[in-house]
Amino acid sequence: MDDTLYGTRTAKGEWTPHRRASYGPLFDRQFNLGRLLRWFLHGYLLPWNALYAGAAVILYAFTTPSTATTRTFAVGWIAYLLARNLAIVLAWYGLFHWWLYRRKAQDARFKYNARWPRESKRFTFGSQTRENVFWTLASGVPIWTAYEIVTLWLFANGHVHMLQWSRHPVWIVLIMLLIPLWREVHFYWVHRLIHTPFLYKKVHALHHRNTNPGPWSGLSMHPIEHIAYYSAAAIHWIIPAHPIHALYELVHLTMSPVPGHSGFEKIELGEDAAIDTGCLNHYLHHKYFEVNYADGAIPFDRWFGSFHDGSPEAHAAMKKRLAARNVPAAD
Ligand SMILES: [Zn+2]
Ligand SMILES: [Zn+2]
Repeated sequence: MDDTLYGTRTAKGEWTPHRRASYGPLFDRQFNLGRLLRWFLHGYLLPWNALYAGAAVILYAFTTPSTATTRTFAVGWIAYLLARNLAIVLAWYGLFHWWLYRRKAQDARFKYNARWPRESKRFTFGSQTRENVFWTLASGVPIWTAYEIVTLWLFANGHVHMLQWSRHPVWIVLIMLLIPLWREVHFYWVHRLIHTPFLYKKVHALHHRNTNPGPWSGLSMHPIEHIAYYSAAAIHWIIPAHPIHALYELVHLTMSPVPGHSGFEKIELGEDAAIDTGCLNHYLHHKYFEVNYADGAIPFDRWFGSFHDGSPEAHAAMKKRLAARNVPAAD
């Protein structure tokens, strides 16, 4: 595909789409049912959230140990879940990295930053990708698995009120639909918290080493950030739900950072078909740090004055905001 039809690349190699980063119409002042329904289907559900929900249903149905097994902690099922989760991460993260960054299937078309991840002493093990893989596998996967183990144990022992499909089908579907929104709320506030100076320096700076992120950057976090990030799933320890909800939450937390950090506006699927990654908001966060703490449908950044939609006007506003606080801004 011809990416010059969709955006422009500067002499420095930065590709900016003609479209602006946005939040979708959920909180638009002017209510437009048609626009809302179109966005709900193609934007909120399709393609990504429906894919994650489908993956969660399959994982729950075919790969999750029974409640009889998870009622007591035992090495066997815990090791199995760890291995299963490791395999999922290797397959999902590896697929994007291999296709876009190793095979370079679409070269730098639709890539925001024309540079490729670097070998540099700045990174642990001398490369951005190796550092990213390390934190994802050594910290991200075990912490995801720990949350899953506790969740399954709580459900199996009746410590959480479990909704039954036969009696609460509407609630079960409704909660499934609300999970991505809950994730946004949780992500925004955790993210604001870890941008406070002390936590930023000690914890979140590791994730922000990725100024030019790639798929493996998504879950490249300090263990404390992983614990905070995955704690979104702990809501299902309190609110009556079904294990499928917790699994969807965890799968979403694990899989969504991949397109979100892919570094590409679109992934080409053929001569004239492509899938939107929806990662412009978060790409700008990695580039400028002090903008776009949220991502998705709820316009937190617009409400709290930190939104950058990619336009020169938003950039000037950001610089003015930072200058007022004596913080230097990137160009
Ligand atoms: Zn990020
Ligand atoms: Zn951040």
